[in-house]
Amino acid sequence: MTFRTILLASTCAAIAAPALADVNIYTTRQPELIQPVMDAFTSETGIAVNLAYVDDGLVERLRAEGNRSPADLVMTVDIANLKQIVDAGVIQPVESDVLTNAVPETLRSPDNLWFGLTTRARIVYASKDRVADGEVTTYEDLASEKWEGRICTRSGLHNYNLALLSAVIDHVGQDGARDWAAGVRENLARKPEGNDRAQVRAIWAGQCDISLGNTYYMGAMLNNEEQTEWANAVRIVFPTFADGGTHVNVSGMAMTNAAPNRDEALQLMEYLVSPEAQRIYAELNYEYPVLEGVAQSDLVASWGEFTPDDVNLSDLAGHRPTALRIMEEVNFDG
Ligand code: FE
Repeated sequence: MTFRTILLASTCAAIAAPALADVNIYTTRQPELIQPVMDAFTSETGIAVNLAYVDDGLVERLRAEGNRSPADLVMTVDIANLKQIVDAGVIQPVESDVLTNAVPETLRSPDNLWFGLTTRARIVYASKDRVADGEVTTYEDLASEKWEGRICTRSGLHNYNLALLSAVIDHVGQDGARDWAAGVRENLARKPEGNDRAQVRAIWAGQCDISLGNTYYMGAMLNNEEQTEWANAVRIVFPTFADGGTHVNVSGMAMTNAAPNRDEALQLMEYLVSPEAQRIYAELNYEYPVLEGVAQSDLVASWGEFTPDDVNLSDLAGHRPTALRIMEEVNFDG
């Protein structure tokens, strides 16, 4: 092995045979949640897809690789991460009517830099035993006294909660959002700790009655032997804003600046918003397709219908610094 191939092997560990690659993707999502839809693409087009799982440091890696990057596409979740790759200048706009027609305007970059593929709602997990039907109403109501000592959540500084607070800012303004964050903090049953699923476990264990969480974790818990009983202790309730819908975030994709296989990568992007790919991808991840008219999986549909909030995700990204400041001001995690 020459020095050069050793270098390649160490920087592109998960990408086998870069020379033969048709489309290379850096993904912050677990490859097994993406592989089946890539297999479907390959069998339809003959174009191979190589997935490299990048746990941390996606932006740093793309920056370091620059125009020599083997990656054509990036797949990640959450508007915060999408905004980060936009701000880092490591992706390029993609002009495609197929993409702009398929992906609703609120779920893609106004500059066509990134496109949402699926959505997830940030909802309330409610104890089946201790929370009555109709008791959970709006996000605003989570700050009311009736929830005192009854709410569990992960850190207020986590991207998921910062995006939710950004949506609160969008609806009620900065002062209202500060009051809201302070009110929810007052209602916490315990200091924020753990991930979204750990809050459902706390409901199951009787430590709190409701928690904030993303919808797909219900699917994930039901498919985990140890966590099934946590999932069965709660039901999903879709709160809305008083003057809006239910807060959603996205998983999305973008084309890198380097994109050595641009044509094939564009073909894959367009495939990923097709009805077939949308169905497979959303089902694998217990998420909602962005393409209108694509059926949800039976499990996801069983959680009920909701109206997504119509705020543009790029606007939410703009509120993030304010959301972060508010969480610190109210000492949400303290
Ligand atoms: Fe998550």
